[in-house]
Amino acid sequence: MSSDPDCIFCKIVAGKIPAKKVYEDAELLAFHDIHPWAPVHILLIPKQHVATLYDAGPEHEALFGRMLGLAPRLMRELGVLDGFRTVVNTGRNGGQEVFHVHMHVMGGPRPWAKG
Ligand code: 5GP
Ligand code: ZN
Repeated sequence: MSSDPDCIFCKIVAGKIPAKKVYEDAELLAFHDIHPWAPVHILLIPKQHVATLYDAGPEHEALFGRMLGLAPRLMRELGVLDGFRTVVNTGRNGGQEVFHVHMHVMGGPRPWAKG
């Protein structure tokens, strides 16, 4: 599985940096964002290092499909039953700060800090 030793999310996958995990399987990991914008704000990532959505190829389609499928399940499990937002920032002008693909999944009562 591809991994980048300098990538902060690869370090979380490897257990080198702690994170509040909410879900894990062979391909995917979900954990709470360290600076939440919403009452519930998790990041859903592939365990393999894919820097941005620009770098995703046809071989990743099932993986990204699984991420989208998992989002509502995790929100339900976290008690978010009244709607949530999914955001994938891509590239510098897309507001991406961590270059390991991640889906923000945010929910809970408003107002939120951002968005
Ligand atoms: P981006 O702007 O790249 O879409 O979002 C990156 C997100 O990762 C930000 O919301 C930021 O708070 C979160 N983040 C950055 N470093 C860490 C970390 O070490 N642990 C956790 N849990 N979240 C992080
Ligand atoms: Zn990475």
